[in-house]
Amino acid sequence: MPLAKISMSVPVVVNAEACIAGKGCTVCVDVCPLDVLAIDKALGAAYMKYDECWYCLPCEADCPTNAITVNIPYLLR
Ligand code: SF4
Ligand code: SF4
Repeated sequence: MPLAKISMSVPVVVNAEACIAGKGCTVCVDVCPLDVLAIDKALGAAYMKYDECWYCLPCEADCPTNAITVNIPYLLR
């Protein structure tokens, strides 16, 4: 199954091309208070492992390569 399709269905989308998890970055995983992000070692990129989110945004703000987009639901904006 295409990975892009999986990541589009969850609120936190990681641009695998920009993500430098393959070089050891784990910032988003470390800052997420819910522990819903993880690193796909085969892909060398972070992804949303569990579809839970507080929309608190440190993952997006702290990512050194701006690889993360948090899609905040319209009703929460
Ligand atoms: S917005 Fe907050 S809860 Fe959601 S993935 Fe990022 S750090 Fe985790
Ligand atoms: S913080 Fe950014 S570059 Fe680092 S693992 Fe997460 S998405 Fe990838």
